[in-house]
Amino acid sequence: MIFLGIESSCDDTAAAVVTGNRRILSSVVSSQTALHADFGGVVPEIAARAHAERLDLAVEQALAEAGLGLGALSGIAVTAGPGLIGGVMAGVMCAKGIAAGTGLPLVGVNHLAGHALTPRLTDGVDFPYLMLLVSGGHCQFLRVDGPDAFTRLGGTIDDAPGEAFDKLAKLLALPQPGGPHVEAEAAQGDPKRFPLPRPLLDRPGCDMSFSGLKTAALRQRDALIAEHGGLQAQDRRDLCAAFQSAVAEVLAEKSRRALAASPVPLLAVAGGVAANGLIRAALEQVAAEAGARFLAPPLRLCTDNGAMIAWAGIERFRLGHRDGMELAARPRWPLDGHAAPMLGHGK
Ligand code: ATP
Ligand code: FE
Repeated sequence: MIFLGIESSCDDTAAAVVTGNRRILSSVVSSQTALHADFGGVVPEIAARAHAERLDLAVEQALAEAGLGLGALSGIAVTAGPGLIGGVMAGVMCAKGIAAGTGLPLVGVNHLAGHALTPRLTDGVDFPYLMLLVSGGHCQFLRVDGPDAFTRLGGTIDDAPGEAFDKLAKLLALPQPGGPHVEAEAAQGDPKRFPLPRPLLDRPGCDMSFSGLKTAALRQRDALIAEHGGLQAQDRRDLCAAFQSAVAEVLAEKSRRALAASPVPLLAVAGGVAANGLIRAALEQVAAEAGARFLAPPLRLCTDNGAMIAWAGIERFRLGHRDGMELAARPRWPLDGHAAPMLGHGK
């Protein structure tokens, strides 16, 4: 079995070719970071236009790198939500066009299911497992019991951690996306100099909050500026270190609770924030304490990509899922109700 996967829900235009025995024959990701750099965030209209312009090329390149023509495919998987609606629509239209032209089966995939099923693609793990999805736009614990059996155990009630890292970077005049820069600064900082809060640790359950942490960092920054007339390099490093260790501690403690509430043999992580060394180490330790394995797929498969969508499509196809031309793009699509959206059926 060979699937083409198409992803365009945020600011990466991606296409990939993946086989049913977990081989990634190609994975093309065209990042739009430079297009949005001047705006301090992803501009939906610019993203949608760029996807529309680049999708054909990404698909063509993915097939060329795989050394295959459309005739070799068994089906087409496409992200049908959640995400920025213009981009999702561009991807769904592209996939429908190919399906209509070739007669190949079409499978709509939930973007979050793509992330959540990645450990099955990279490492062939069995169900059940726990997935912590931590990216620029998402933060949630999912118990994964099957290709379309997900239970959300908790998540952020405001910002995602990647978003919080990016906002902190902005406050400190570091480049975007901020996570890697904050981590680099933190490497030379003292995490104990500034006491930052650990939001929601005093409350039971797996919900998290990161916007208060960002506000506390802002206050600390302003106090330093008022005191010294500006930020010293060491102030910036210490603030980054304090922030990073607060995020790591919150994610670790909530993971501990998630594993206690739902004991499974594996804790897996996905999303760009999984690149952070301190956060990875903290999660690895929590998993070891609970007697579970820890798995962080390679970063290029942790961030948005077409291979995870192709794979999730294969998993859904094997369960008998097929979509037709009525497949709709959806801005919101909670994973708990994973049936593919249909046109005219609203949210
Ligand atoms: P989505 O949320 O739809 O998956 P996204 O583009 O927002 O898409 P990713 O590409 O998965 O998310 O991850 C990007 C985020 O990860 C950014 O917010 C970035 O700052 C953060 N990030 C990347 N590297 C690190 C790091 N080393 N430490 C902390 N955060 C990081
Ligand atoms: Fe994503």
